[in-house]
Formats: sequence, structure tokens, C-alpha cells
Amino acid sequence: MQKGKINVQTENIFPIIKKFLYSDHEIFLRELISNAVDATQKLKTLASTGHFKDELGDLTIQVAVDKKKGTLSITDRGIGMTTEEVDKYINQIAFSSAEEFVKKFKTKTEAEKNAIIGHFGLGFYSSFMVSDKVEVITKTYKKGGPTKPVKWVCDGSPNYSLEETVKEDRGTEIVLHISDEEKEFLEDHKIRELLNKYCRFLPVPIQFGMKKEQVKVEGEKDKDGNDKYTEVEKPDIINNTNPLWKQKPAGLKDEDYKTFYRELYPMNFEEPLFHIHLNVDYPFNLTGILYFPKVKSNLEVQRDKIQLYSNQVFVTDSVEGIVPDFLTLLHGLLDSPDIPLNVSRSFLQSDRRVKQISNHIMKKVADKLEGLFKDNREEFEKKWDDIKVFIEYGIISEDKFYERAKKFCLLKNMENKYFTLDEYKDKIKGTQKDKDKKLVYLYTSNKDEQHSYIQSAIEKGYDVLLMDGVLDNHFVNQLEQKFENTSFVRVDADTIDNLIKKDDAEFPSKLDDKQKETIKPVFEKVVEKPKFTVMFNNLSESDMPVIITQPEFMRRMKDMSAMGGGGGMMGMGNLPDSYNLVVNTNHKLVNDILKEEDDGKREEMAKQLTNLAMLSQNLLKGQALTDFIKSSVDMIGK
Ligand code: ADP
Ligand code: MG
Repeated sequence: MQKGKINVQTENIFPIIKKFLYSDHEIFLRELISNAVDATQKLKTLASTGHFKDELGDLTIQVAVDKKKGTLSITDRGIGMTTEEVDKYINQIAFSSAEEFVKKFKTKTEAEKNAIIGHFGLGFYSSFMVSDKVEVITKTYKKGGPTKPVKWVCDGSPNYSLEETVKEDRGTEIVLHISDEEKEFLEDHKIRELLNKYCRFLPVPIQFGMKKEQVKVEGEKDKDGNDKYTEVEKPDIINNTNPLWKQKPAGLKDEDYKTFYRELYPMNFEEPLFHIHLNVDYPFNLTGILYFPKVKSNLEVQRDKIQLYSNQVFVTDSVEGIVPDFLTLLHGLLDSPDIPLNVSRSFLQSDRRVKQISNHIMKKVADKLEGLFKDNREEFEKKWDDIKVFIEYGIISEDKFYERAKKFCLLKNMENKYFTLDEYKDKIKGTQKDKDKKLVYLYTSNKDEQHSYIQSAIEKGYDVLLMDGVLDNHFVNQLEQKFENTSFVRVDADTIDNLIKKDDAEFPSKLDDKQKETIKPVFEKVVEKPKFTVMFNNLSESDMPVIITQPEFMRRMKDMSAMGGGGGMMGMGNLPDSYNLVVNTNHKLVNDILKEEDDGKREEMAKQLTNLAMLSQNLLKGQALTDFIKSSVDMIGK
């Protein structure tokens, strides 16, 4: 037997592995299984090049728990190791890289630690995060020379032993003696959960115990003449060794992608709208499938659905920094050995290759959307309401994406018709220019609440866009900045004649300045200040006597700060509401208020008109609403 000390230069790293790398102990299983997969793949390569001539046989990797002995073992039938190889790879190389990893790790901040520990780096020695003792029993595929099976044992001190052993089968068995604090790794359900998380799509079959399955007994029926079934035990293979994204897109059907979506998200019952199959091998290696899901109103719950793999090994499901932010709303997975994994996020964001990958993904997404739009506009329009949030998000956050998306980004109007940006501009440029030649886009964010304002605009022959999506506030802002000499205004931002000011003079006012001065305080008394500003407008006699408008600029600021974003608006908290109470100087009832001599009566009239205006803006609530209804009933009685 050979005994020795693992080459320890600085300090004993075992306690550090155990104590400091506590955050993600579970990754040891992924590390050991990927080693087993590597060893198996290497053997397959040797066989395919003629360097290994024996039978490959069953290459299934076995994972087994022995609760009585307190062990977890991972067994492969890969290339195995000779004594020299164990000494070289386990005692020296793996150890020094683990040592290096630990050193690097110690200098990281807590946040960075959490970001990298889940990634690759620690390798074989991560097994000591959960074990008191680790055994490696291995037999090389090689014939001749010193090729006897060997057993390496290390108890978590720098001392190891290495001795000859008996092992029938080629390959490596790793036996972990799970430590007392980590007993959960001896539970079947825990191991199954981890295998599902990390190993679901590994290219070599992985078996975890047996499962029961019902199979038909050929040629036999039960007494009712039904098929007879019998229960059989079968190896429980936990992974799909040939996942869809590794297959050639040409041979796949839409249904295959849908089935795979269900495999990826068994808890998600909604079907995806469409998919993009990525397959690049130059200048970087990237495969994957991205799905456009049906959008939920809460965008955040949708994030973190894209999984990142490296050669079919699950790495993480938080891909910020790797794909453009707006694409994190998509589902699916990316697989790339070219994304440096054991680095911090800030490094990822500045890495040239990661940038290239990110740009490529963005380009592919734009290609797909443009293709759908060009090939079948009708279908594209049907999907629009569901995909618009991605496209708007993309336009808001990435100029490069806007350059592509402006061709297929659609606007929808109150007649449920869809227009490209250019088409819509052509539609309204004859009618919706104001006297300064500025093009005014009218929109509504709620067709029910702003109904009367929409009506006024339509009666004038104007077109109104429906902008009721979660991102439309930002989107409107963005378009306004991108288009020249254009403004976007919500229909209730002002009276319609003020929203699109034309040259033709307005109606002359029936009230002179002095009369206005008399009326103004009456209305000021009945509204909440400073929320409301009372002003006059010479509308037609048939317009409403009092209208409440919400000035565009302030409202937009408020909406954006409420959304917690939008360029410097963050942290402004809730801005107060601000409304204009527009009194129509030409309405008969306003004139009646002026003529009324009883102060109480006057106020009552102003209050009633104001309340009606509030009602049409959906602003009358609670006690105010109850009072209004009561006073209206009383009024009818009078
Ligand atoms: P890495 O996998 O990055 O090389 P590890 O620390 O995980 O680092 O493993 C160190 C080395 O030990 C491997 O490169 C390989 O040579 C050897 N090794 C580990 N597990 C096995 C195994 N199951 N079969 C054969 N060799 C193995
Ligand atoms: Mg490894």
C-alpha cells in the first residue's frame, strides 16, 4: 500500500472546502457525474478511432444510495485510471486546481461567491463538501503494464492511501461516505431531485435504482376480456440522452418542440407561441431552443425560465448578463461550452465572446419575427397581442433591436386594425398634424375608462391607438424620441381641440375675464387642491360643461415612477396625481352658475357638474361616490 500526503503547499484546504463553500453543496453530484460522463465519452471516442477494440457493453452510469452504510456511489464504465493516473490526476492536478479555485474563491465578495459556486471549478474535490471519506475504486481500460485495479481513499485530511484492489469491471466507482450534517444526500428523493436538475439531458444514460412499470401480457385477457397487465421492474433512467436541441432542426416537427417544452416545464400548462432553434458552431459554439411563451401580466414571474447548459450539463437558470435583458422573458435553454462559467457576472457582461453570443441570439430572434411577419402577416397579427411585450421591451432596451423591429412592430387602433409604424404614419399624416406641422398620435390606455374622450376624438375624425400593455408607457416615450416632430398624447390629456391644435380659431368665449374670475373660486372650492387646477376653455355649447383632463407629461412621469423604472425615474416614489378641471365657458349650465345668486346653490351646482366629470374619469370613489348618488336622488325628487 502506498501512503502519502497530498501536495499541500499553503494550508489544508479540506476544512475550507467544507466550511466556506457552503452555499451550494449539492453541486458535488453534478461534478462527479460529469466526470463519469467524460470518462465514458473518452472511451467511446477511443472505440470509434480504433484504439479500444473490446466490447463497450452497457455504458450506463449507476447512482446508488446505501442508507445502512451511509454511502452514495457513482459508478461508470468509462476509461478508468491506472495507479499513475490516479496519482497524477487526483493527487496532483485535480488537487492543485481545487486549491487554486479555493484561493480565488476566498478573495471574492459574498455576492460573487454565490454567483460562481454554482458554476464549474472545484471538480472532484467538491465531494468533500458532503463526505467524511471518499473512495475511488478504478480499473483502466488499458491492457498490459501495471494496469491492476486500484483503490484511493482519503478521509478529508491531506493524507490518502492508494492500494491494489479487486474490481471486475472496467471504469470508476466513487464512494462517498456522507457526513452526519449532510444526511439529506442519502435520501432517494433528494438525489432524484438533483439528478433531475443537473443531469436531465446528459448524453450518457444515468440509472438511479429501479422503477415499476405496467406491461401488457401478450395473448392473455382477464375475465372481462380486457388486456392483462403485469408489473415489471425496469432500470430507472433519469435522463434524456438525445435532447431536442442537439438534433438537426430539419428533421423536427412543431409537435416535437411542443413536447419538449412540456418536458422542460411540466408545471406550465400554457403552450408556447413559437420557437427558435439555435445552432451555431462558428465563431463560437451555441445550441439551444428559445420559446416565446404566452405573456402573463406580471413580467417578473416569467423571468429566469431560460436554462443555461454547458455540454448538456445544467449550469444555471439565471442568465442575466448572458442574453439581452428583454430576452430573459423567453423560455427554453442555451447550451454553450464557450460561455466562461466560473467567473463573476460583471466579467461575463464585459466578455467579448459573451457579447457576440448575446448579439447573435438577438439577431436570430429578430430574424424569426421578421420571417413570421413576412410569411404570414395574418397569423403574425393574431399573435401580436401576446408577443408585443417582448418586442416593445426589446425596442426600449436595445437600439440594435429597434433597427430590426421597426419593420415588424405593429400598432393597434380602436378598430382592432394593425399597422406597421410606417403604415400608421401614412394613415394619420393627412389629418393629425397640428398647426405647427407636428404629428400627433392619440392613444388610450384604457378603452373603457377613457371612453368619452375616445369618442370625442373619433367624432373629430381622428384615429386612436390602443396602448394598454404593461410596457406601453415606456414604449410611447421611446417612439416619441425615435420619431421626428411627433408627440404622443393620451386622449384624456386635454380637450381634443387642444390636443391637436388647428389654425381655425376656437369658439369665442361667452364669458369675459371678470365673469371667469367670479366662477373660478366656486369650482376651486369643490375640488381637492392642489390635485386639481381649475381652468377655462371655449368649447362648443354641445360639449360637456366640465371636463377633467390629466396632463400628458405629469401623468407619464407618474406612471413610470410607479413602474419603478424608465430612465432616472427610479426611487422617486409615488408622484402625486395632477388633473385639470376644464370649465366650458360656452355651456349653458356654466352661465346658470354665474347667474345664480345664492352661494349655497351655486356651490351645489358646481359640485354636481364636477362630480359628473369625475365620474367619467372613474375618479369618484368611496364616500364621495355615495354622497353623489344620494344628492342626485334628492335632486330628482325636487
Ligand atoms: P476536471 O474534470 O475539470 O478535469 P476534476 O477535478 O473533476 O477536474 O477531475 C480531475 C481528473 O480526475 C479528471 O480530469 C480525470 O482525469 C480524473 N477523473 C475524475 N473522475 C474520473 C472518472 N470517473 N473516470 C476517469 N477519470 C476520472
Ligand atoms: Mg470534472
